[in-house]
Amino acid sequence: ARQFSRPLNQLATQINTMLSAIAGAERAFEILSETKESDGDSADELAAVKGEIEFSHVSFAYGDKGDTLTDLTFRIKPGQTVALVGPTGAGKSTVVQLLTRFYEPNGGHIRIDGRDIRTIRRQSLRRHMGFVLQDTVLFDATVRDNIRYGRLEATDGEVERAAELANAHSFIAKLPEGYDTFIREGGSGISQGQKQLLAIARAVLADPSILILDEATSSIDTVTEIKIQQALSRLMKNRTSVVVAHRLSTIRQADLIVVLERGKIAEQGSHESLMERQGVYWELHRSKDG
Ligand code: ATP
Repeated sequence: ARQFSRPLNQLATQINTMLSAIAGAERAFEILSETKESDGDSADELAAVKGEIEFSHVSFAYGDKGDTLTDLTFRIKPGQTVALVGPTGAGKSTVVQLLTRFYEPNGGHIRIDGRDIRTIRRQSLRRHMGFVLQDTVLFDATVRDNIRYGRLEATDGEVERAAELANAHSFIAKLPEGYDTFIREGGSGISQGQKQLLAIARAVLADPSILILDEATSSIDTVTEIKIQQALSRLMKNRTSVVVAHRLSTIRQADLIVVLERGKIAEQGSHESLMERQGVYWELHRSKDG
């Protein structure tokens, strides 16, 4: 499962690096805000976000290896979900890398609410985004503070409410010291599925306009899996979501499915329209079902 999402692991690593060796959430947040990637002189803050996302003829290459993405064009309206699907190495995670400005396109434009993201400061851009990644970044702090990382000024009550909405409350309540249980070494005592529930709780608390979701490919027990699914659909409802999707159920429900093949859009559309076409998606779907 690991190899399915290297760059998003890379993204998690990028975030992790910023957080590592930091004891308190506030300090972590300061460092995140202070991190200086060259933004360009004209970049400024992004106020409220509706959540329209547009890729317009976007091309990208990692170094001089040739194009990883070629001429990507798609658009979703605020509150919609786009599912990125396609074989390993097709470029799904790279789309997220560009949307979060960890990399810049070599050609074309990425716009949020009609505005080129090149003109938005990275930290400002990312503050409007919530991340639920396969490798959830937990740091050495209590469960409560790990969730609170989503929104530092949240009260204990708000943290617990978020945990409830994320279906995380029941497992937290069973931990030795509940919300005050200390998480060590990135959460060694906590299962993969439970880590995801904490990531969802964080995102619920942050209430971002745009949700970036990297669906887990690793096996998670059925009960936790159902909890995750339910919490995620709650979280994604009425919120723009960009999903690196592996589950057919998620893909089927997306407003737009973008099928990537070797960095190009092979097809895009709704589940119904793509099934009707009987093209790549239909094939993919059949092989997954079978
Ligand atoms: P997966 O399903 O395995 O996660 P993906 O569809 O997300 O795959 P990407 O991870 O975006 O695909 O990778 C697209 C291509 O870019 C691959 O050929 C990959 O090897 C390459 N690539 C990804 N990250 C980097 C990087 N940091 N430097 C160089 N090449 C990279």
